[in-house]
This record gives sequence, C-alpha cells and structure tokens, in this order.
Amino acid sequence: MNNAAPEQPAELVARLRATFRSGTTRPVAWRTGQLHRLRTLLTEQGETIAAALHADLGKSSTEAHRTEIDFVIREIDHTLEHLDGWLRPEQVPVPAFLGEASAWTRYDPLGVVLVIAPWNYPAQLLLAPVAGALAAGNAVVAKPSELAPATSAALARLLPQYLDTDAVAVVEGGVPETTALLEQRFDHILYTGNGTVGRIVMAAAARHLTPVTLELGGKSPAFVDRGTDLDAVAARLAAGKFLNAGQTCVAPDYVLTDPETARALEGALAKAVESLYGPDASASPEYGRIVDERHFDRLTALLESGRQVTGGAHDRDSKYIAPTVLAEVSPDAPVMREEIFGPILPIVEVPGLDEAIDFINDRDKPLALYAFTESDTTRERLAAETSSGGLGFGLPLAHLTISDLPFGGVGESGMGSYHGRYSIETFSHRKAVLAKTLS
Ligand code: NAD
Repeated sequence: MNNAAPEQPAELVARLRATFRSGTTRPVAWRTGQLHRLRTLLTEQGETIAAALHADLGKSSTEAHRTEIDFVIREIDHTLEHLDGWLRPEQVPVPAFLGEASAWTRYDPLGVVLVIAPWNYPAQLLLAPVAGALAAGNAVVAKPSELAPATSAALARLLPQYLDTDAVAVVEGGVPETTALLEQRFDHILYTGNGTVGRIVMAAAARHLTPVTLELGGKSPAFVDRGTDLDAVAARLAAGKFLNAGQTCVAPDYVLTDPETARALEGALAKAVESLYGPDASASPEYGRIVDERHFDRLTALLESGRQVTGGAHDRDSKYIAPTVLAEVSPDAPVMREEIFGPILPIVEVPGLDEAIDFINDRDKPLALYAFTESDTTRERLAAETSSGGLGFGLPLAHLTISDLPFGGVGESGMGSYHGRYSIETFSHRKAVLAKTLS
C-alpha cells in the first residue's frame, strides 16, 4: 500500500481481514517465510534498532542485542524448529457409543490480531508477540509505544520493508491512535503495559467479545533466606534490578528478608552495584536512563522512602538516577505503594518465612516472585502457598528467556501468556473435530 492519505483504522483492519480471508496467512510456508524475514530484519538492521534503543533509553548496544534483538531471534528460531510439531492435530479417543469414528483437535488461526507494546523493551515486546501471531497464521496490527519514539519510528519504517504488507501493519501513535484502533473488531488483542490501560483495553475488547492477553506488571518480591551466600545473591539481585535502569516488568521490585540478613545484604548490594557499574554509574556505558521526565520525577520522589545504602544521585537533564538501595523501608512507605519501575531497590524486613508469605499474599499477585534459599522446604512452601505469574529460584528475570515456559501474569499482573508454543495457544483457536463415515 502506497496511498498518499493515511489509512484509517477501519480501512486498515478491513484490508488485513481480506488478506486473512483470502487464506494467504494460513499455509505454514507463509508463516515460516514471514518469521525468516523478521529474523533477517533483526540481523540486517540490528544496529539501526540498537541505535534507536540507545536514543530512547540509553541502552548499550550489548544490552539492546541481549535483551531485545537476540531475544526475538532466539524466540523465532525456537518457533521455526518446533512449529510443525506444535501445529500437528492431536488425535483423541472416541467413546464407544459413537461407533467407528475419529476425533482430533486442530489449531485455527484467529484472524486479525492487535499487539500493543510498551516503551521499556519496545522492540522485544512488540516483535515477540508479532512473531507468535504470525506463526499462528494471523494478520497483525502492531502498535509500538509512543514513549520510545525512535524505536517506534524505526520499526514502523522497517517492518513494511521485510514483512508482507498485506498482512502486517504498524500503526504509530499514542492514546488517540490506540483508542481509534480499539474501536475496531480484532480477533485477539495482546496488550503489554500497566493495569489502568489494561482495563481500558479489556473494556474496548468486550464490546466485540474479543479475547485479550494482558501482560501487566506489579511489585515482584525477592525473598532472601537466612544463611544464603549474600555476595552471590547481591550480584544476581543487582544485575536483575538495575538492568535497563530498573525499567523491567519482571525486575525484583523489593527485597523481603529478616533484619539480620538485611544488614549483611545492604553492604553486599552496594559492592555488587559498584562492580557492575563502577563507583559512578553515570559514567558507565552499560547503565541506562529513565524514559522521560514524568517517570524521572515520580522516581526521585521515592528516593527518601528509606535509609540510602548506596545511590541517590540523580540528574534531570540526562534523566539519570543512580542505582539506589534503600534499607529499613516501612511497608507503608511511598516506594512500597506502587510498582517502582526504576532503579530503586527497597529492603523490607520481616521476621521470617511465614511473615514473608503473608506479606506477599496480602498484596496483588505479582508478575514474578524470586527467592534465594538453599532449603527445598522453603522453595516448596513458596511455590505452593503463593501465586505469581512466574517463580524464579536463585536467578531473577531469566525464566522469561526460556521459550518453552509460558510468560504471563495472574490477577493484577495480567491474564494469558505467550512465548514458544504458548503463543500458538494464545493466537489460535483449538478446534474440536469429529469425523464419522456415513456407511
Ligand atoms: P506505555 O505508556 O508505553 O503504554 C503501553 C501501551 O499502551 C502503549 O502502546 C500506549 O500507546 C498504550 N496506551 C497508553 N494509554 C492508553 C490509553 N488510554 N488507551 C489505549 N492505549 C493506551 O507503557 P506503560 O504502561 O508505562 O508500561 C509500563 C508497565 O508495563 C509496567 O507496569 C510494567 O510492569 C508493565 N510491563 C509488563 C510487561 C509484561 O510483559 N508483563 C512487560 C513490560 C512492561
């Protein structure tokens, strides 16, 4: 499409729906072809995307590749390797009263899928769902975040150069453009972002009975048990927390531990931050920046929520906030009232495991729960007695790099999941089929 006038949402969706109805997107060969082209885009244009991510979030090229570009490439490779197997019809036994017959399930593509992405991993969180929707045989409208404008512009320019423009469209813009899109009837909407907008998306989808996947956030706790190797714990906590300057949906939001462990962990965290970013993180090319002034102001207002063990420095012009650890933080402190989504790590003290479990269960179900413990009993209790989107023992964030695991939240942290075969489940209808001969 090279029309001079911008295509209206209704026309756009009608055009993509016509492509879907024509059957173009159904053959596995078309799907894998699109995945290969998306892969080529990511390899050929990796530096362009990395530069955009640097402009939007100060991401280093290493981090841009590791957490966004290569992440999606791995997801694509995993899908290409397994797609045939995932799509294979599954035969099921037929009850005797039906006589001779056979029955199976098959995955049908849904139609036109809308993917709405946020700004914090603006390439990964747009392209991984798009890859899943294409693998399932759908047409896709991709809406990048306006708060990552360089990445949004780069993807809006590049995707049409590589992918089938009859089936894939990028719509840039903010609230008005997204609102206009949401008036259209889609066959599935995957939204990643905050719960307030998640509710708006779900209400809009309800008008058309469109199913939604909501990938939301929340406060993901990290429980640290007595008697663990605190240098190792601190190194992993700091690396997970301060990646992308803390602007990661599954970042450890706060630490829960007993008072004695808390004292020792403080020092270990300060050391871990220094070994990651040196004595002044503002000089480290590996340390990111806050996305905009609004978030910068929101975050700096939280810096006095506890005793600063390390960090606290900030500069509005460069949107820099040092990796900050706060000790002796009250459960009622401002930093504990909302998802932090920035480089501030509060340590909240609880007497022990029972109280930690109560603390977690008294609050919204988090997107992730992390625990550092050598005790199998403690692991089992945390697994059985709490609810969270994902659960990580000993290593934050990494569960979502495993394509065979579903990625998604529960309760306030979201609904539904994707990645790997779960993207096929999400973006397909599993149709029940019965076949009986007439003779
Ligand atoms: P954001 O502001 O970029 O918003 C996300 C998307 O919603 C954007 O595309 C935006 O245009 C659209 N949007 C904003 N307001 C809208 C409205 N009124 N109507 C319709 N669409 C609208 O990103 P954000 O919400 O600030 O992202 C941060 C949140 O996302 C955090 O809570 C974080 O935990 C969560 N998150 C979750 C995941 C996950 O995979 N579960 C990943 C990243 C971020």
